[in-house]
Amino acid sequence: MKLKCPKCEQEINIADINMQTDSVLCRSCEEIFNINECTEIIDKEHIKNIYNNPPNGCMIREDFDGKTLIIKKKSLLGILILTIFTLIWSGLSIGSIYVMPILNGKFNVEQGLFGIPFVLGTIILVNVIMCMLFGAKKIKIANGELYYFNGLAKVGIKKRLQVSQIKEVNITRSNIQTNNQYHYQVELKGHFDNNKKVINIVSTTDDEILEYAKAFILVHKK
Ligand SMILES: [Zn+2]
Repeated sequence: MKLKCPKCEQEINIADINMQTDSVLCRSCEEIFNINECTEIIDKEHIKNIYNNPPNGCMIREDFDGKTLIIKKKSLLGILILTIFTLIWSGLSIGSIYVMPILNGKFNVEQGLFGIPFVLGTIILVNVIMCMLFGAKKIKIANGELYYFNGLAKVGIKKRLQVSQIKEVNITRSNIQTNNQYHYQVELKGHFDNNKKVINIVSTTDDEILEYAKAFILVHKK
């Protein structure tokens, strides 16, 4: 990571970056700054190199009006565990509350109402499994707009912004955790609609995917 002095815009020496205290020293200004004040110097060759070698789970789709980065990373073990859990949990609850009583002709309304939370739980679980199987994260850049989508078919998280509003693209830690591992995300900094200064997209534990998503945005940002 190469950093620029926030005041004189000169490159900061690697030796003058102190990661422990998050501070940097600019030799020409003879001043100490917080690391968050500095902007990163983008190494174009390095970014291009990343962009030309998509990691596992990343795919570029050429659309008539722009390009879309499609991120599909499946955790087969996760899908398997959740599917088995759903089959047992839903099978037992719905089987004993609805299926067996109906087959035996002993079903009553009270019992039916008691079972509603299990039906809703099953619907949610099946949705999560479908998303894990067929869902994707997409970043589309076309006509000066960046469009982010995370979900399945048309249902999911959507974010839209002007590419010209982006001033910085960083990778930062998010608050989400899976299996005690923090997720990281692509942080877009700039002046967005509704006075927003930061928009976060692509939350994952996969570093390669984050670096690739960042490179994709930087390459098409111009
Ligand atoms: Zn300086």
